[in-house]
Amino acid sequence: MDKYLVIGNPIEHSKSPFIHQQFAQASNQVISYGKKKLELEEFASFIKMFQRDGGKGCNITVPFKEVAFKLADELSDRAKAAGAVNTLILNEDGSIIGDNTDGQGLVGDLQNHQVEITNQRILIIGAGGAARGCILPLAKLKPKEIVICNRTVEKAQQIVTDLDSHIDIPLSSCALSDVSGTFDVIINSTSASLSNHLPAICSEVIGSAKCCYDMAYGDSETCFMIWAKDLGVKQTIDGLGMLVGQAAESFRLWRNVTPATEDILQTIRSQL
Ligand code: NDP
Repeated sequence: MDKYLVIGNPIEHSKSPFIHQQFAQASNQVISYGKKKLELEEFASFIKMFQRDGGKGCNITVPFKEVAFKLADELSDRAKAAGAVNTLILNEDGSIIGDNTDGQGLVGDLQNHQVEITNQRILIIGAGGAARGCILPLAKLKPKEIVICNRTVEKAQQIVTDLDSHIDIPLSSCALSDVSGTFDVIINSTSASLSNHLPAICSEVIGSAKCCYDMAYGDSETCFMIWAKDLGVKQTIDGLGMLVGQAAESFRLWRNVTPATEDILQTIRSQL
């Protein structure tokens, strides 16, 4: 039986084993998919051991996405752009391929919600791995422009420096306090919602959006979604669909089958 793992720290609450088992069942495949908590210094040797034992792939979550990036022998373009890896493909010849499916998960979820990106002004709040990973997939949909703002403005500037030459739409950065004007779609890629905090952005900017997307999710609407709704934003979406979408893209890479996501998304939401 082909073996897969999700690796992180903490990892207890990961939904990946459940999601992948559902994908496997729905496509009549038998796989084993477990979760493993590691310390940073154990990561590389554990992956090699898992691969020698017949492991076929891993999903990688916080705080290992950057070490997974360094460990891979070969990287997809989207992993290179993200500077982070959330999916490892472990080949039988011992080689390791690193990919990043987060951006695809986000774009797929936006499309499932009929959120228009083409020709729209997009604001991304946050400049961590998740923000980096979504720039290329979003840019492929030809928005009018993408602005990245971050609490630590240098990190947003660095993303623009690294990715500007890879895309053909205007990409710029600024500090949270300097964001002004109107945006069609605002994507919160900060981890602020996880601690019930809001990014320090002017309310008028948030209220100008047609859609506000929060990559975070929980058993109820995130504080960012509630804030946006209170400011009159018509469409607010959490990151659960992105989670299932990135998993589906990993499953496709490993199993060459694109799983349906709608039913599993509803099941997971009902279990939150
Ligand atoms: P990182 O740790 O790489 O980045 C965190 C970002 O959040 C940084 O830009 C940081 O700013 C910012 N931030 C944290 N707290 C605050 C705050 N109080 N106010 C303003 N900005 C803040 O994390 P990732 O990029 O990997 O993940 C970010 C979020 O996206 C997390 O909530 C994660 O759970 C979610 N995510 C969801 C996925 C899904 O499938 N739904 C997939 C991947 C991520 P600074 O640089 O200044 O520290």
